[in-house]
Amino acid sequence: MQPLFLHPVFKERIWGGTTLQTEFGYDIPSNYTGECWAISAHPNGPSLIKNGPYEGMGLDELWNKHPELFGNPKEKVFPLLTKILDANQDLSVQVHPDDTYAQVHENGELGKTECWYIIDCKEDAYIIFGHNAKTKEELRKQIEDGKWEELLRKVKIKPGDFFYVPSGTIHALCEGTLVLETQQSSDSTYRVYDYNRRDAAGNLRELHLEKAIDVTTVPYQDQLSVPSVEKCKNVTITTYVNSGFFSVYKWDVNGKTSFSFDDCYLLLSVIKGEGRLLHNGEKYDLKKGSHLIIPFGFGSFELEGNCELIVSHT
Ligand code: ZN
Repeated sequence: MQPLFLHPVFKERIWGGTTLQTEFGYDIPSNYTGECWAISAHPNGPSLIKNGPYEGMGLDELWNKHPELFGNPKEKVFPLLTKILDANQDLSVQVHPDDTYAQVHENGELGKTECWYIIDCKEDAYIIFGHNAKTKEELRKQIEDGKWEELLRKVKIKPGDFFYVPSGTIHALCEGTLVLETQQSSDSTYRVYDYNRRDAAGNLRELHLEKAIDVTTVPYQDQLSVPSVEKCKNVTITTYVNSGFFSVYKWDVNGKTSFSFDDCYLLLSVIKGEGRLLHNGEKYDLKKGSHLIIPFGFGSFELEGNCELIVSHT
């Protein structure tokens, strides 16, 4: 059994830039590259397996043909999606539905709860996270009147911050932010406000106000929580979230350390440094920008080097 390394898929966005190339060395399609879909089985951009017996196969196909690699799961689709986002400019202000709403209104898509690890950001960067309306009526009125300064909550950010963004939370990444996002495998987004921007052809992007008002949690519920930190031999493990949708951690590896997971498969993304994964006498190089899945039943393995990884599982 081998770890499953993945080829990312890139998405051009009006708010994108070149940081995915300059920071990670990825071969990006243009100077407006906004998203790296690093570990994806979503039909809008499945990643391909890079190595081993399944080389060249899409992660979606692998999920269907080899469920044993994922512990014979009950879910019909691979439930997670890991992205890196280069917010070179502000993203639209948006909100996502939950599973129940998306099932009905988005052709059986999953809902979208997501979370952000801030890899890097400019000085004085912030995000939009939640709103100030007390009732749905007030939310509707402020959206219709364009009272964005009053409505939207701004939160200052710095590298290393983590935010859990449940479905129903109005949110946006803002200019100068590089983020690793772990989310449910879903592409359903309701755009609330797009700063009246026009694309290259002069068009405004579509807004989805009725659906957005429908799904927004009112009043906003504070989601900030304190991560727990555990220091073990040659690794520091920070636990950011254990929710019904996913658990997310950061592993800070300094030296050689061993791991064993018997009851889940793991998604790993290297965000800093380099190292190696050792398993059954085999060595696999890891470097900043590598993304891989440790399959179910992989057994114990070791990591060595100096690197930081964001790790998730369902
Ligand atoms: Zn979002």
